Amino acid sequence: MNVLVINAGSSSLKYQLLNPATGALLAKGLCERIGIDGKFTYKPQLEGKEAIKAADIAMPTHNEAIAAVLNALVDAKNGVIGSMKEIDAVGHRVVHGGEKFAKSVVITDEVMAAIEACNPLAPLHNPANIIGIRACQKLMPGVPMVAVFDTAFHQTMPPVAYTYALPYEYYEKDKVRRYGFHGTSHKYVAQRAADMLGKPVESLKLISCHLGNGSSVTAVDGGKSVETSMGFTPLAGLPMGTRAGDIDAGILEYLMNKYGYSIGEMLNILNKKSGMEGISGVSSDFRDLEIGAEKGDERCALAREKFAYEVKKLIGAYAAIMGGVDAIIFTAGVGENDGLERMAIASGLEYMGVKMDEDANNVRGEERVISAADSKVKVLLIPTNEELMIAMDTAALVG
Ligand code: AMP
Repeated sequence: MNVLVINAGSSSLKYQLLNPATGALLAKGLCERIGIDGKFTYKPQLEGKEAIKAADIAMPTHNEAIAAVLNALVDAKNGVIGSMKEIDAVGHRVVHGGEKFAKSVVITDEVMAAIEACNPLAPLHNPANIIGIRACQKLMPGVPMVAVFDTAFHQTMPPVAYTYALPYEYYEKDKVRRYGFHGTSHKYVAQRAADMLGKPVESLKLISCHLGNGSSVTAVDGGKSVETSMGFTPLAGLPMGTRAGDIDAGILEYLMNKYGYSIGEMLNILNKKSGMEGISGVSSDFRDLEIGAEKGDERCALAREKFAYEVKKLIGAYAAIMGGVDAIIFTAGVGENDGLERMAIASGLEYMGVKMDEDANNVRGEERVISAADSKVKVLLIPTNEELMIAMDTAALVG
């Protein structure tokens, strides 16, 4: 079975064609500048097939982008499948499923209406996801489509974790609560962790650290998300590449009054000019911060230290709410590649049974145990694979 995985943004669309049973990737790529001039990238994973890099292909809408993807996949010379019949299903990444979706679902008219109803909760993302689904439905009639939500995995959180201490009517009437994001990634690495440890996920207490440009930490107890650091929006929790993470809401009033910012300008600062970039004044990228810190730039060093400090704080907090932890997982760009940052996070946690193996930790992007053999709490490096998780969910639903 082959599943086409689509992650549609407002002006871009990422895709992968893979076999969820074997995990084999047939092709992947990216459509960029949709609605502008259109750039198309295609990377077949089969021997002898040629890639296409940022080719000019007119993409006035997502329809032309999907058409370009399908044409490339079935191309006589460089395609990876013989015909469209070999695409058995399409799995769509959808950012927000609100309280309606605790699991992935087969897309029907009713499901589309429910996803649209979640648009106000993710105004930048859900409408683009819907456009991507519609484009696929138009060009691939009869092919089953599945929606996989970033928020779904976190719907198991108890009220005590998802309730904000605001007037309760904002939850009841307006659905203001913690939702959490990166759910597909946290779910994938939690399952992999159970496989690596050779234990059922239901028996484990895990802390999953998805540390990338956007970052979140999730407590997974018995395979279920019980707490996570992102909130009503992905702006909450850890400081990130350019996002502030949790700050005192009173700061907004102070800065808005002082500088006459509109709420839009203030949010732009919190989303795009804060985090690692804000503290360092240099970059949102941890590689640049490492170079800066090595050269003696104190703000680059402070940004890295602040990030490790906040992740460590969450690990302590999540061990406390679960009453222990069996394994800590590192994943995503920083978690998979930045051994120094992993070490900074895990050092000082010896009191709770974490003992790192320095040599094992000196690695990038490889699935392995990076704690010492006698570490009570295992520390695992697990490259995330959200596309494979989406394909697996899709295959499970459409059979
Ligand atoms: P993601 O959002 O998961 O794609 O992560 C992207 C981020 O990972 C980048 O902005 C970098 O900060 C970080 N990253 C990627 N590769 C490395 C690396 N080799 N060393 C340190 N950080 C890295």
